[in-house]
Amino acid sequence: MTGLHTTLARRGLMFILSSPSGAGKTTISRMLLEADSEIKLSVSCTTRPMRPGEENGVHYHFVSDADFDRMVEEDDFYEWAHVFGHRYGTPKARVRAALKEGQDFLFDIDWQGTQQLYQKDQQDVVRVFLLPPSIDELRRRLEGRAQDSQDVINARMERARAEISHWDAYDYVVINDNVQACFGKVQQILAAERMKRQRQTGLIPFVRELMG
Ligand code: ADP
Ligand code: 5GP
Repeated sequence: MTGLHTTLARRGLMFILSSPSGAGKTTISRMLLEADSEIKLSVSCTTRPMRPGEENGVHYHFVSDADFDRMVEEDDFYEWAHVFGHRYGTPKARVRAALKEGQDFLFDIDWQGTQQLYQKDQQDVVRVFLLPPSIDELRRRLEGRAQDSQDVINARMERARAEISHWDAYDYVVINDNVQACFGKVQQILAAERMKRQRQTGLIPFVRELMG
């Protein structure tokens, strides 16, 4: 061992990935979670029906309207919002305590949720926005995903312009043209953010020891 300590204590961060629907945030999120064991997904609650291939508790906690009402009343959410006629919310439990222990969380949420999370916890939040390389490509991806009806796809396309207009409320903007290149950039952002001085809570004792 050459250093005084092998690892330094660090505070976890809240890594937010947003994009207009279809631009690739689920794809990039999955790649990140697979490649990086230090970051966990914050699983949101939603009142929307499950899609084919989704699993309760993994992609979302699928809850009834009544359950969602109760959670709102009990202040169980960091934030919640109406999206496409359903409600989505980020449960608070676990996240706060785990950040202190150095656990990073990934948030796959929209711009409204991002704004609310940022207002509650500016220090821990890192905001990344993905853009499609073109509107035509965005439509191709939504159609290729084959999860939604044509009406839903049209509604998502309609909404994409509104979502894109929030690009300047993010710390980083990455264009998802080539998926590997986009993923590499997202990993670089995460790596640099982890090294920020204010997150490295172990630095004070380390430097004290270093200076004898
Ligand atoms: P979102 O979560 O933002 O709604 P997805 O990650 O589900 O978007 O991506 C929408 C579709 O586009 C999926 O079928 C996915 O495989 C595809 N896709 C994602 N990124 C790329 C890319 N860089 N190039 C081509 N297709 C992509
Ligand atoms: P989908 O139904 O395609 O999974 O998601 C629809 C939209 O809801 C996406 O833009 C997604 O980012 C957003 N969303 C998912 N979870 C949350 C959440 O907890 N809070 C907010 N505000 N938006 C969410």
